[in-house]
Amino acid sequence: MPELPEVEVTRRSFADRIAGAEVLALRLGKPLRWPLGCAPDTLVGRRVVHVGRRGKYLLLQLDDGGCLLLHLGMSGSLQFAHSLPASGVHDHFDLLTSKGLLRLHDPRRFGAVVWVPDERDARAVKLLGRLGVEPLEAGFDPLAFHRALQQRRAPIKQVLLAGDIVVGVGNIYASESLFLAGIRPTVRADRISLPRARRLHAAIVDVLAYAVALGGSTLRDFSNADGQSGYFQREAHVYGREGLPCRVCATPVRALRQGQRSTFFCPVCQTF
Ligand SMILES: [Zn+2]
Repeated sequence: MPELPEVEVTRRSFADRIAGAEVLALRLGKPLRWPLGCAPDTLVGRRVVHVGRRGKYLLLQLDDGGCLLLHLGMSGSLQFAHSLPASGVHDHFDLLTSKGLLRLHDPRRFGAVVWVPDERDARAVKLLGRLGVEPLEAGFDPLAFHRALQQRRAPIKQVLLAGDIVVGVGNIYASESLFLAGIRPTVRADRISLPRARRLHAAIVDVLAYAVALGGSTLRDFSNADGQSGYFQREAHVYGREGLPCRVCATPVRALRQGQRSTFFCPVCQTF
């Protein structure tokens, strides 16, 4: 599933190239997770001003104040190119612009493209309003992070995955951050001291920034809008490495299930 680093990598792979492009046509395939919310023809003639990101949503800002919110869901990927083959059975959104064709390929169709007239629109508020702070921006503060953890009794990994304190720390990145911080995934969030919360904060920033630098993780078939895969998963300390020696202490990495998701940790390096 594309997580924050993959979405950010995708954004960077086409944001500059599509900026200023005029929308020439829209084509919708099979229904995605939510309806578009407008007649496709009403967007023809608009220009894409900027491509931003909030959590795992890409925000295509249009020149009339409207915005297309794109989500890659479980299996989505974007392509942007001057020309692409005729749309296939899993291509469910084509945005033809004066600078190229933006295409959402999404076999499982948990992705979405939603138009909103502005950011105060009820659907925008519903999708974006409850997201936590951005981990790669200055608003992610260690003291505020620790204070927020003090309010939660759930296991720290679950709290990170929930995304309402800090967005974008998905399964692979939560496991890796907790490893670097030396914290067991099962520890109650409110038991984490300020020094440990600071270590975890720094680990989250490091892991996500490193993942973006490596082009994200390619767990199944992720590629950015230029068709390039990411390589973070090859660098993982614990994720996907059950039974293999810890890269730091050589103890076999353990796996457990938390809330239907696999969690990986080193019983020696993660003692708290
Ligand atoms: Zn270890």
